[in-house]
Parts: sequence; structure tokens; C-alpha cells
Amino acid sequence: MKVLSSPEDIYAQLDFARRHGKRIGLVPTMGALHDGHLSLVREAKRECEIAVTTVFVNPSQFGPNEDFAKYPRTLDSDLEKLASVGCDFVFVPSKDHMYPLGHSTFVEPPAVAANWEGKIRPGHFRGVTTIVLKLFNMLPAQVAYFGRKDYQQVAVISAMVRDLNVPILVQSCETIREPDGLAMSSRNRYLSATERVRALGLWHALSQAQSMIDDGQRSVSRIESAMNEVLEKAPVDSIDYAAIVDPDTMEQRSDLDSPAVAIIAVRVGTTRLIDNSLLQVQ
Ligand code: AMP
Repeated sequence: MKVLSSPEDIYAQLDFARRHGKRIGLVPTMGALHDGHLSLVREAKRECEIAVTTVFVNPSQFGPNEDFAKYPRTLDSDLEKLASVGCDFVFVPSKDHMYPLGHSTFVEPPAVAANWEGKIRPGHFRGVTTIVLKLFNMLPAQVAYFGRKDYQQVAVISAMVRDLNVPILVQSCETIREPDGLAMSSRNRYLSATERVRALGLWHALSQAQSMIDDGQRSVSRIESAMNEVLEKAPVDSIDYAAIVDPDTMEQRSDLDSPAVAIIAVRVGTTRLIDNSLLQVQ
């Protein structure tokens, strides 16, 4: 496994491989890797000859009062984990590589970024679209792998790729969970033991939504109320949203006549957690 920090070096290596007919799969991350991230690398290895993972905590996607400074940075153990799943290249750029002096160009996010995370975290998706497009330009991969754990993020990146004709295939991969249902997240390590128990409210609320549908409930507002009740009972400390939305446009749904996804964002202690689930409606 080669670990590189210079954009020129990694571009040269990947460009050489690509010219020799190799399919390259890209997995962008902010590090603090867990099995969710590694599942993306495994998927890249299954579908491509070369897997490249990027590790960069992107300052432009954090708000001024968010956790950029304390975001976990665990490069040594990240590299061990990446080697264990057969990752071929790791790109670990410095802030100066990604945002050189004078950097002032940003990508305006697509319409699907307007609500939910986009509303609650102003500027977040502008940082995400900018860094992801920069990585797509720096690393000539054919496929990029993202987790559905960040459902709106995948929708935003897919729309950006479509709208800006970026020559890359966006592949979304399933959410990897702890045995009790908590979605794996780099931020789970902020949770105390009691907060970790309360954080299970997200999974219980998503499961409640699905079991109501299985029992024949078709009222979106009743299901959303029930999700909120489960979260309040957990209890979580605040609820940013618990909603049922269209899987493509992320617009609030009023019925379950076509596919829908339940999305949740809450705070447990000072930790912000998000999760979602595609609803199965017979
Ligand atoms: P992050 O390092 O949190 O920016 O995440 C990097 C990539 O890993 C994103 O595409 C995330 O959606 C994905 N990811 C994070 N957690 C999970 C998970 N539990 N299951 C699958 N993918 C995940």
C-alpha cells in the first residue's frame, strides 16, 4: 500500500495505472476509520483493480461552531486498517495541498442540498461538493464509493456529477451498523456509555417507522409523530428532524405511494448523529 501526500505523485501513479487499462475505485473519507469506511474499500476492491482511499478532514464543510478542531485524527490506525483490507493507495494531502493560498473557488451545491442537513448546517454541502470535485479532479478514478449512512450527501454528489458532467460513476453502499443497530460513525467515539445507550433511539425510531408500515399504517404524519416519540423517550437531547422524504429529491413526502426514505438527525449530549432507512412499502 502506497501512502502519498503530493497531488502530483498520486495523479502520476493513478494516471499510469489507468493508461494501462486498470479500473480505479475512489473512497473519500475524513479518517477515524471504522468498518463502515472499510466496507466501501472492500466494495472498491471487488469492482476495481485499484482502490484509493483519501484521508482529509475538510475544514470547509464544518461550520464555525462545529467539531473541526476536535474531529478524531487517527492516521496510524487508519493506515493499518486500510492495509488489512488491501487498499492500494492512500492519499493524505495537507491543508495547503487542498486549499493553497488564494483558494477562492467553491462549487454551488445542487437543489437537493437545500433542506435538512443543508438548512441546519449552512455551508456544509458547499464544502462537501468543493472537496469532492477537487478529489475527482486530482484522482482519475472511474468509480467513487459513498455510504448511504450520509444519504443526502450521496444525493448531492450524484446531482453534482450529473449537472457538471463529471466523468465518474457514483456508487452508494449500504450502512454498516453495530450489532445493536447503531450506525457506525466516527463521531460515536464522542459518546459516553449512557449516551451510547440513548443513541440507539435513532435505530429504534427507524425500526418503528418500518414496523408501522408493515402493520399497514400509511399516514406519513402518524409515522413521523411516532418516530419523534421514540426519540423523545430514548431520550435524545434535541431533534433536528425526523422526516419521511422522497429518495431522489429529498422533498417531504405526504404519502407512501412511491418509494420513501426516513431520515433523522439528533443531538445526544453534544454529539450530532444522523441516520436513515429506505422504507419498504408493499
Ligand atoms: P466520513 O469519513 O464520515 O466523511 O465518511 C466517509 C465515507 O464513509 C462517506 O461516504 C460515508 O457515507 C461513509 N460511511 C460513514 N459511516 C458509514 C457506515 N456506517 N456505513 C457505510 N458507510 C459509511
